[in-house]
Formats: sequence, C-alpha cells, structure tokens
Amino acid sequence: ISKFTGRSRVTIYDPQIIDADHSGESLAGLLAHAIERQCISVVYQPIIQLGTEEIIGYETLMRLKGNNGRLVKPDIFIPVAEQNGAIVELGAWVFEQACADVARYKLDGVIAVNISAVQLKAPGFALRVAEMLARHGLAPAQFALELSERGDILGQSQAAQTVEQLRKLGVQIWLDDFGTGYAGIDCLRRFELDIVKIDRSFLPDGRHPRDVRMLTGMIQLLRSLGRTVLVEGVETVEQKRLLEELGVDLAQGYLIGRPQPVSEFIGDQKSEVA
Ligand code: C2E
Ligand code: MG
Ligand code: MG
Ligand code: MG
Repeated sequence: ISKFTGRSRVTIYDPQIIDADHSGESLAGLLAHAIERQCISVVYQPIIQLGTEEIIGYETLMRLKGNNGRLVKPDIFIPVAEQNGAIVELGAWVFEQACADVARYKLDGVIAVNISAVQLKAPGFALRVAEMLARHGLAPAQFALELSERGDILGQSQAAQTVEQLRKLGVQIWLDDFGTGYAGIDCLRRFELDIVKIDRSFLPDGRHPRDVRMLTGMIQLLRSLGRTVLVEGVETVEQKRLLEELGVDLAQGYLIGRPQPVSEFIGDQKSEVA
C-alpha cells in the first residue's frame, strides 16, 4: 500500500491539499521569490555507519517558510517547484549553500544533495555543479547527488548524459527512494550507483515475516550487485537492530539524528578540527 501512496504523492499537484494560507497561486509566487526574500534554507540530517556508529556524512534537505512564518512541507512545495521550473534555481541555491557551509565550517564527510529530475534535464547542470565546487575549492568526491527513482531520471537521454558527466567530474551518484518508483531495477542496471537508499516504507515497525523477507531480499539484491545499502527512516532501536542483523551498511532517521541547521552541529566539528 505504501508503494501506491508513495507514488501518488508526487504525481499531480492538487491545490486542495494545501492549507488555507497557501492557495496554488501564492505557493508558486512564494517559490518564485523564495531566494531573494530569504524564505528558503537548508538543514542537514546525519548518516551513520551501522556497527561503528560513525557519522559518515549528511543529507541536505530544503526548507521553505511560508508567508505565515510556518514551514511548508517539501512534499507539497517540491512538486509545485518541479512543475513550474522553480526547482532549478532553488536546487542550485541548496547546492551553493551546502558548498559554502562545507568550506566555511570545514565539515567532514559526504554531503548528499537531493536533485530533481527536472534539474538533471536542465541544460548545463553538470557544468554548474563543477563551477560551484571549484569556486569553493571543494573536492567533488565529498558530494553525492541523490536521484530519486520516483522522478523521470531515465526518460531522456539528456539526463543519462548528465549523470555520466557528473560521474566523470567525480561526484558520487546515489539512488533515493529505492522501491517506490517505476524505475528502480532499471536504474540499478543502467547507472553505476555508489549508494542505494531503500525507502523508509520498507522498514517494518515490527518483525512481520513478510516485511522482513521483503527487506532482506532487497538488501541481498543490492549487495549482490556490489552496491552500498542505506536504509532511511530509522525511528526505533528495534529497527536499527534489525538493520544491523541484516548487514545494512548505512542508516539515517530520527533515532539517529533529526535534520538541523548547520549552526546546531558545527560545535562538534569545530572541536574535532581544533
Ligand atoms: P527524501 O530525500 O527521501 O528525504 C527523506 C525525508 O524523510 C525528509 O523529509 C526527512 O526529513 C524525512 N525523515 C528523515 N528521517 C525520518 C524518520 O526517521 N522518520 C520519518 N517519518 N521521516 C524521516 P523532508 O525533509 O520533508 O523531505 C521530503 C522529500 O522532499 C525528500 O525526500 C526529497 O524527495 C524532497 N526534498 C527535500 N529537500 C529537497 C531538495 O533540496 N531538492 C529536491 N529536489 N528535493 C528535496
Ligand atoms: Mg533524499
Ligand atoms: Mg530518501
Ligand atoms: Mg524517501
């Protein structure tokens, strides 16, 4: 069932689901001016290695503040931004901000940035990534681009070409939301992926045999193809234990750490540097 809810979430933008403060039009307007009005920000969620518990990096997540000062959910504004093209500039802003934070605070570990299929198809995307990294003096290998299998990342040859250019540049390519889209298995065949993130809808609450077998099978497939496996959405100690038993490499979730502004965790990093 989660497969289908996951799917419908991104298909059509329905103005009805937006709360009273955000009619479809005002949300589009908000997105158009989000950067100049400083309504957009980025938060970072830690990714750990299971077993050692070491933080190996962070995923960046975009945050948008509405006119009423409250946050608008990405599940609501990202599809709108993809439809009207605003995601191209908003996504570039997130990448630029991440570069600035890494350079300024000397952040360690990989920084995984979500990239929409719309960005991937925009002309010059790989060049733009290369330019930002070079300007901040950063190694491409410290960055990963998360491509969601929910988006149409295989649909056009332009996208596949861009992925190839990015790979040559040296950035990591990760697959996000594995299991929820139409193209997961095809993506595995077509792209050399560094890490595959299994969607949190496949992480069971308990140990129902069917759910555990499903997850085990997905992990076995990925491992047999030589992919590093990350499971998202770890909320309980029991879930983390299950992943450790199944030999999952990396994990992410509220149990491990919530998404936070960079100001919340530079303390630890600074003391490591000092
Ligand atoms: P995603 O890339 O799969 O990101 C994971 C989402 O799960 C995030 O939601 C994160 O806050 C949430 N999450 C993390 N741990 C847990 C957990 O333990 N339990 C639960 N229930 N949720 C958890 P968020 O930030 O609302 O983002 C939703 C989606 O919006 C993202 O899913 C991604 O597809 C998209 N998105 C967010 N930021 C960006 C961005 O900068 N660019 C693009 N193109 N898409 C973005
Ligand atoms: Mg992601
Ligand atoms: Mg994800
Ligand atoms: Mg997901």
